[in-house]
Amino acid sequence: MRDSILDRCETNGLRLTSQRRVIASVLDMSRDHPDVEELHARAVARDPGISLATVYRTVKTLEEAGILEKVDFGDGRARYEDAERDHHDHLIDMDSGRVIEFVDAEIEALQEKIAAKLGYRLLGHKLELYGVPLKKDGG
Ligand SMILES: [Zn+2]
Repeated sequence: MRDSILDRCETNGLRLTSQRRVIASVLDMSRDHPDVEELHARAVARDPGISLATVYRTVKTLEEAGILEKVDFGDGRARYEDAERDHHDHLIDMDSGRVIEFVDAEIEALQEKIAAKLGYRLLGHKLELYGVPLKKDGG
């Protein structure tokens, strides 16, 4: 079980105002890939005094500390997820914007094989698949 984002902020010596604590706690509870505006909406539900600028600054600080990871699903919006989540890749539904997370052992192994063939030890990768559903609901 990984430490919460709040715990990792403390481990990293990040100074947390009460507003930043609310934002960190919102991030801890997020299991999706919110952008800054979505995070702001969730944070003001708990503390109406939190500004969008505070969310921007907090997210940037957490990203620089390696606590948050920025993900880009090709629409120009920076989204964030907990950097310590188990590795996974993303499939983005271009019709609905839904993001499906997956892990595929063959893809993982293939990428290590390619890196080794090119003379490298693989440290990580990012993979985003973009698609539309094969079948539409209601036909
Ligand atoms: Zn994800």
